[in-house]
Formats: sequence, C-alpha cells, structure tokens
Amino acid sequence: MAENDATMPAGDELEISLFGPGYGESILVHTGEGDWLVIDSCMASDRKTPVALSYLESMGVDSSTAVKLVVATHWHDDHIRGLAALYRACTSAKFVCSQALKNEDFLTLASSVDGRTMMESSGVDEFNSVLAELDRRGDVPRWALADRPLWCRDGDIPCQAFALSPSDKEVTKAFQSVAQLLDSAGSPKRRIPAPERNHGAVAIFLKLGSTSVLFGADLEMTNAQDTGWAAVLASSNRPREKAKIYKVAHHGSASADCPRIWTDLLHEQPVAILTPFSRGKVRLPSEKDIKRMKDRTRYIYATARAGSKRADRGSGSVARTKREVLRNSHKLVPALGQVRVRMNIHDPRGRVDLLGSAVSLGGLHMGM
Ligand SMILES: [Zn+2]
Repeated sequence: MAENDATMPAGDELEISLFGPGYGESILVHTGEGDWLVIDSCMASDRKTPVALSYLESMGVDSSTAVKLVVATHWHDDHIRGLAALYRACTSAKFVCSQALKNEDFLTLASSVDGRTMMESSGVDEFNSVLAELDRRGDVPRWALADRPLWCRDGDIPCQAFALSPSDKEVTKAFQSVAQLLDSAGSPKRRIPAPERNHGAVAIFLKLGSTSVLFGADLEMTNAQDTGWAAVLASSNRPREKAKIYKVAHHGSASADCPRIWTDLLHEQPVAILTPFSRGKVRLPSEKDIKRMKDRTRYIYATARAGSKRADRGSGSVARTKREVLRNSHKLVPALGQVRVRMNIHDPRGRVDLLGSAVSLGGLHMGM
C-alpha cells in the first residue's frame, strides 16, 4: 500500500492521488513547488485518520504548511468524513465550499456565531466543526461559484484553480429555498423544491503550466441549461484549455455524463480516474457506465471495483451481522485503493500507479 512506499513528488512534478475505499473519496493534488491541495475527505484504513493526512505524513510532508487549499465539493457523507480534522491540521490552508448551500447548511452557518448547531447529520457536524475552526482563525469560507478563481500561484510554475460550478442559477435556487424557510405564517407560498446537493457541487479546473486537470466532483446533468454540466459547458468565462486528466464526475454515473464533457473540456483519450460508490443496492459505475466511458478513453482507473467484496460495506441486517463478526479482522477492513498519477510538468508523458484495491477499467495501462 502507498503508505509504505510513497516518496515525495519532485518540485516540478504534478501528482494527483485519488483515494477511495468503495464508499468515500479524497483527492490530493501536488501542484509543484511543494504545494498541495486537498479535495474532499475520506478515512485511511485505520478509519481514524483522514487519508490525506496519513498519506502526506507517510511522505514526510508537513500538512500545516504544504496544504494551501481544502475543498469540500459538497456535503455528502462519502466526501466529507474527517474533513474538519483535516482542515484543523492544515493550518495554512484556505477552506473552499459551494455557495449553493442547502437549507440545513445555511442554518448551520447562521447559527455558528454562538457555536450552536440546529441540525443533526454528519455533513452538518463536519461543516459546524469547520466553521468553528474558521472562526478561531478569524477567517471565512471561500465561497465557490462558477468561473471564480479559487487559488493562484505565480512564479516558475504558475498554477491556477478555478471553480466551474455551482452556476448562478443554482446559487439563486439555494437562496430562494432558504428564503422560504424565513416565511412566517401568511398567504400560501409556492413550494420551491430544495436543490439537490450534487447540483451545487464544486467542479474544479486546474491549470499547471501547459497541463490541465478537470475535477468533476459529483456534478450531474440536470434538466435545465443553466445548472449542472450544461451550465459549465455554456459558460464563456471558464478556462478554454482542455484537460488531460479527468476525475470522473459522480462515480461514473450516466446522470453525470454527456458527450460534450469529453469533447469540449477534455483532450482526446484523457486519463480518467474515479472512485466507485457502493451502498445498499446502488453500485457505481455499472458495467454499462464502464462500457460508455471506454468509448471515450482507453485509460480509466478506479480506486476499487464497484461492489467488489472488499469495497462493499453493504447494508441491511445480513451485511450488518457480517460486518460485526468481521469487525476486528484485518483482512476485511475495506481496502483503501489509491490511483496515483504523476507527470513531470515539462514532459507530458506520465505514469499511473495502482495501489491497494485500485484497478484499470479501460483495458490499457499507462501511456498518456
Ligand atoms: Zn459521491
């Protein structure tokens, strides 16, 4: 596993390490010059430490100075485990989250002034803890909104990270949904459905020298032209480069895919990396999803197979009993897969390492 054999990337080397145990996702990005960004969080194999921290520590990287940005793409359980602990350790990092807050996130924000929390869910707990840490630092979140620069570095290796979403429309919908909460009794109000969290997720475009990377978060297609991927594709303000590496949106689901992502935002035959999603009956990506992606690129890598025994934590009483019986068995801790892409920024040929439960789904390995 990577914890044992990781060496630090060189100063002029881009690294993208995608971690996922089958339910969970965390991305570490070395943008050169010793700077790291972390997008989302899941736990290491010990289930106690955010994987980003244990990986950086295994390479002797000091998280308190090296991590410049911690991003919560959206507040779904599979993307935020250990996020607050991660942010507390990264004392030099700015914290980024979506401006399209769900109602419960807004209430958490609104009540965070005096440390109370009005909501109960793991997403809100993490958000509340992050807000407490921001408050301690006298800082506020950097709100992600489509086409907003999130982080820039000048110098020998210039680097820029842009938010591609949420769209203005999605943020407006979130405001309207919150406004509905504030309505006191009176005339019947038109019900505004609460926005889907995935539609407010923060997709990011990273430019590093002549290389670009697209991080698709869990952003999906919607029925509207001014939200989701359609809004990203329609934007005239987004970066015009095409990315060579794509963190596939929403675990490879069909609902998060459309041909124009691959033609307008990505190079031909990009390196596609993804984490699976296995929970209850939902298994992503499906065989059909894999087949569809293979038509776009031959280079597809996942941190684990969807629904593979080691990745599947399952649900229901049978799975629960099984988990209880096996809780203390080392072998059955869900394997933590890591897809690691490294590329010298002056030489666009790179290398993909598959560690732990990571697999190639596209048939071909390496070659970029
Ligand atoms: Zn997800």
